[in-house]
Amino acid sequence: AKAEGRGTFCFFEQSMNDKVQARRAIEVDLRTALVRDELEVFYQPLFHLSAGQVGGFEALVRWRHPTRGLVSPAQFIPIAEELGLIVPLGEWVMIQACKEAVTWPRDIKVAVNLSPAQFRSNGLSKSIRRALNESGLPAGRLELEITESALLQDSEAVLATLHELRSLGIRIALDDFGTGYSSLSYLRSFPFDKLKIDQSFVREMGYRPDCQAIVVSVLGLAAELGMATTAEGVETEEQLEQLREFGCTEAQGYLFDRPRPAGEIRHWFAAKAN
Ligand code: C2E
Ligand code: CA
Ligand code: CA
Ligand code: CA
Repeated sequence: AKAEGRGTFCFFEQSMNDKVQARRAIEVDLRTALVRDELEVFYQPLFHLSAGQVGGFEALVRWRHPTRGLVSPAQFIPIAEELGLIVPLGEWVMIQACKEAVTWPRDIKVAVNLSPAQFRSNGLSKSIRRALNESGLPAGRLELEITESALLQDSEAVLATLHELRSLGIRIALDDFGTGYSSLSYLRSFPFDKLKIDQSFVREMGYRPDCQAIVVSVLGLAAELGMATTAEGVETEEQLEQLREFGCTEAQGYLFDRPRPAGEIRHWFAAKAN
């Protein structure tokens, strides 16, 4: 049993080591990924329920690693944040997304994710204005998705930036709603245009009455406060039917489509127009 124990420990140590090394490798490669043009922005549709059609797309970054293949942002965004690379990376995503969206039909919006660290770097609103100017995308077609964690730090400065962006006509969505700590106080401190209900609630809505109650309450609250709502992670017709019944504005998830490369979205629009 003792030998076994030691073996287990060694194995554990080994796998820890592997993890540390894999992470190092990602760190090193990530520093050059931008200049090597290895990043790519995918787009996932936001389906407007009452209009019965796609009203916009969320921009989701991907990394085409030369040997690892397609790397998920869940793996490299946290590292980019720690290394301070999220600011140039975020600026790059923003300009890509704006340039792409300007080629879409005029009623289609684009939603871009912002990391908390981007708010800490002074030039955020300036770089967003530059992206709009360079691309020619009207501010009204841009939506920013922020999480509660962005509001945790130096909230006065963050709120000032949000107000400035909103005054340009940019919409602000509160992402992953329900996963943070004190969501309701944030709703009081800033007039969000939209709430995105985290996919964990949507997933369990069908078989957990408490999750369903939360979704119903949040949708009601948002409506009272004049905010639109997006349900994330919608995968089944049943979920869609329930969300429709509960008055949700928009749905996003594999039921409609997964995130796809820009070229495929362009083809989709072209085919629709013909
Ligand atoms: P998020 O903002 O909550 O984005 C939604 C995630 O849910 C995406 O994962 C999307 O592919 C996934 N998803 C969509 N529909 C479904 C579904 O029906 N079922 C399931 N199981 N998942 C679904 P993705 O693309 O891997 O992105 C993960 C996270 O990485 C994002 O979560 C966001 O926090 C972050 N991220 C992605 N792109 C960017 C970016 O450009 N900047 C920043 N700061 N963060 C980004
Ligand atoms: Ca998001
Ligand atoms: Ca989300
Ligand atoms: Ca999420």
